[in-house]
Amino acid sequence: MSRKKLIAGNWKMNKTAADAAALIKDIVFNVGQRSDVDVVVCPPFTALETAAAVLEGSVVKLGAQNMHQEASGAFTGEVSAPMLRSLFVTHVILGHSERRTYFGETDASINLKLLAALKNQLRPIFCVGETLAEREASTTLKVIQVQVERGLEGVGKEQAQSIIVAYEPVWAIGTGKVATSDQAQEVHAYIRGLLSKLFGDPAAQRVRILYGGSMKPSNAAELLGQADIDGGLIGGASLESRSFLDLIKAAADAK
Ligand code: PEP
Repeated sequence: MSRKKLIAGNWKMNKTAADAAALIKDIVFNVGQRSDVDVVVCPPFTALETAAAVLEGSVVKLGAQNMHQEASGAFTGEVSAPMLRSLFVTHVILGHSERRTYFGETDASINLKLLAALKNQLRPIFCVGETLAEREASTTLKVIQVQVERGLEGVGKEQAQSIIVAYEPVWAIGTGKVATSDQAQEVHAYIRGLLSKLFGDPAAQRVRILYGGSMKPSNAAELLGQADIDGGLIGGASLESRSFLDLIKAAADAK
C-alpha cells in the first residue's frame, strides 16, 4: 500500500518566536501548495502562536513537542491538549527519547498523554527506540515491542490510524550516526507487524512510520526508499530551511 510520506521537523529547545517566524516563512514559501508530501514543523511552545499565524493558509502543519495528559489544573509549567488545539496545533511529538531520558517519562506516562492527544483530535508522533547498549545486547526488537505495546495500550482500531510512529534509535539522535537502511527497515517492518497484531492489517498498513536519527539530505534517499519507512522526524537538519526543504524533496522523489 502506498502511504504519503511525511517530513516533520523537531526543533527541540531552539529558536525564539521571531526566529521561528523567519524560518517558517521560508518553508511556507518554498513548499507552496505541494501535496505529494506532508510537512509538519514542531517549534517550542513559546513560538507556536507566531508559527500558527505564519502558517495560515499553508499546507504545512503545526506540531508541539510534548503535552500534559490533563486538560487543565494545578500542573505548574505544563501545557494541555486543548491549549495546543486553540493555537491550531494538529500534531504532537510524544515519548521522544530526550523526554524519556531527561524528564523521566515512562511507557505508562506516555500512554496517558497519547490517549489524551487522541481524545482531543491531536495526531501523536509517537517515538520509540533502543539505546546503544540495548542494540549491542541484541534486545532492540524486545525493547521496541514493549514500548509500542505499552505506549499504545487502550488505543482503538479507528484511533490507531491517526497515530504516526517514529522509530528513533537513541544512539543515532543528534550524533551523526545514522542507522543503515537495513537496520532501520528491519525495525520499521517489525513495528508494522506489531501494529498489525494490535489493530489488524488494514489499519497497520495505513500508519506512517517515520525514521529519526541524524537523517539529512545526504542519507535520506536510501532510508526513504525502504518499504516501511514513510518519512522522517528531523532534528538538526530541520533548523535550517535549505536542508529541511531538501529532505522534503527527497521524500517526494522516494515515492
Ligand atoms: C530527533 O531529535 O527527533 C532527531 C531525529 O534528531 P537529529 O535529526 O538531530 O538526530
